[in-house]
Formats: sequence, C-alpha cells, structure tokens
Amino acid sequence: MNRIFDEEKGGRVLAFGAHPDDLEVGAGGLLARLSNEGADVTMCVVSIPNRGDERAAEARAGAEVIGADLFILYEGKPCRVEDIPMHELVGRFDQLVGDLRPDLVITHSGHDLHWDHGLVNRATVSALRRTPCDLLSFLSSPEMNAQSRSYGQCFADISTTMDTKLAAISAHKSQLPKLDLESSRDLARAMGRISGVAYAEAYEVLRVRI
Ligand SMILES: [Zn+2]
Repeated sequence: MNRIFDEEKGGRVLAFGAHPDDLEVGAGGLLARLSNEGADVTMCVVSIPNRGDERAAEARAGAEVIGADLFILYEGKPCRVEDIPMHELVGRFDQLVGDLRPDLVITHSGHDLHWDHGLVNRATVSALRRTPCDLLSFLSSPEMNAQSRSYGQCFADISTTMDTKLAAISAHKSQLPKLDLESSRDLARAMGRISGVAYAEAYEVLRVRI
C-alpha cells in the first residue's frame, strides 16, 4: 500500500460533507487511513437540517473515531445547503481553504443525485479555483445513486480502516435505522475486488499532481 503523503510531511486534508454522516459513509475509510498515517484531517459538515444538537454531537463522535477535527459550517442554524446562497457558500469554503491550506481536498461527486451534495461539489470546485491541491470526490450512498454515471476511477485501500469506518458511521445513532452497515461493507468489498485489496473506497479524480 502506497502512502499518500511523505512520512515526514504528514499532509493536510480537508473534506466537505453536506450533512452529518455523509463523510463517514462516503470517505470514512480513507479519512481514517490518512489520519493514521499522520495527516491533519479536517471534516467540514456544511449543514444540519434538523435535530441540531443531537446530530452535531454525533458528528463530533464520528470525527473523533476517524481522528479528524470537525468544523460545522452552520452550527446552531438549522438549514439545508440549498438554503445558502452559492456565493456565500463559496466564500465560506474559500475562507476555510485559505486558513487550512490543504494538500488534498475530498468532496461530494458532481454526479451525486442528492441536490445538496451536488451543490457542495460546485462550491468546492469554485473555492479551489486558485488553490493548487489534489481533489477527489466520492458518491455518498450507492443506494441513492443507482442511476449515477460514475463510481470513480481511483481506489483507496481501506483494508486497515474498514472497521474504523463502520464505527464512525455507527456514531450517528439517530440515523442508524437508515444506515445499512452491511451495505457499506459489501460495497467496500466489491471495490476491493476491483482493485485487488480486501476493502476499498472509489473516488473520482478531479485533480491530482504527480
Ligand atoms: Zn447528505
């Protein structure tokens, strides 16, 4: 398994999720692996539509399992991403990118069929227009994206962090009836078969410097 960043460098990673649990489901294995490898990982949750305090606490617990810092963009203000004007969202992302100067950004796929997820993709791409960093995107949920055109071309080996990913998803207790842990494991196993490892996550490569 190749390291993503040099051992001495560590690396800074910023991940955007529209709602609590999106990042754990879509990218939890890679984020946990990057954290284990010494990267500074920040998970940014854009909005919490309802049950604010409860879901913020679950998001904190999920980030802690992954070993990431958590930043909730609109904490204490119940909203959906589509309620936020795009210029304001891009401005907030700009600010975060300027503060954290990430080497790698991970965000929702532009092919995600959930409207809020697509908006986060657009805002991320806009916010990175002047920032040289790598950019990967993920599909949050295969069940919701059966008609999507892309499942990605880059496979991250998450064999060492599969159980951490499931533990991080499980931190979202209020969502557990909707979150099928076995589906997450099955999908990671299938992506692992494709890429020759036990478990993997698939990403679209939007920008990678080699
Ligand atoms: Zn979501």
